[in-house]
Amino acid sequence: MVIRKHRFEGDGVKFVESPNHGGLFDRGLPDTIIIHYTAGSSAESSVKALCDPRTKASAHLVIGRKGSITQLVMFNAIAWHAGKSSFGGRSGFNKYSIGIEIDNAGRLTNNPGGYTAWFGNTYPESDVVEAVHRNESAPSFWHQYTEEQVNLVIDICIDLVEEYGISTILGHEEISPGRKVDPGPAFPLDELRERVLQRDRSDEGPDEDLPIHDAGMVTASKLNIRSAPRLDAATVAPPLAQGTVVDILQETPGWYEVEVTTRGWVKKEYIRT
Ligand SMILES: [Zn+2]
Repeated sequence: MVIRKHRFEGDGVKFVESPNHGGLFDRGLPDTIIIHYTAGSSAESSVKALCDPRTKASAHLVIGRKGSITQLVMFNAIAWHAGKSSFGGRSGFNKYSIGIEIDNAGRLTNNPGGYTAWFGNTYPESDVVEAVHRNESAPSFWHQYTEEQVNLVIDICIDLVEEYGISTILGHEEISPGRKVDPGPAFPLDELRERVLQRDRSDEGPDEDLPIHDAGMVTASKLNIRSAPRLDAATVAPPLAQGTVVDILQETPGWYEVEVTTRGWVKKEYIRT
């Protein structure tokens, strides 16, 4: 996949021009990516809506559930996806940002027959995530994103950072809190930022620290955990058992500083091995 003349080119990429766009970005912009969900039933229906002049809405990209990409607006032109929005002292994010819409039904209601979207479609439990939204305090149900979508959005954001010098990635829910809840807690927004925006730093040289939260597993039958990287330092907890998964925070010759996660049950699909 490459960006040529402000368009993505490559397998599975379509360009369908939407009439819903403004003029060109000012110099030095866009510098931000805004992540959305479509709250729709399919990528096709969302593309159609975002190309309908009556909706006065668009985005630069629509990402299908199997990894299709439809571009609706050239990356050097202003699309209409953010609406009333503000963050970090700026407002009206259409003029600063590239908008990515991901095909996803959004928040769901739990019914006897399954989990229902606002437009009436019902989804099985295997497609549903129960989680607390960052702007709320109680859990609710959300349509799951596909692995293809998450991986593709990471790749797309890396390409856009390289082409346009993007420095910020935000969810619609962060620039329009109270009015918008997309992309919601089913989307790994913080991980996306970590993977895309902290990437340059890890490319700088061979001698910097390991990436934050690199995971490791204890292979000794019992492993002492000490207050300092020395054999004579006091132990800080009972020995770690074989198979314990730890987060590696930093290293010195011969030693890792680690953090041990609390034990509990988790859904298998959210465990990376
Ligand atoms: Zn949105």
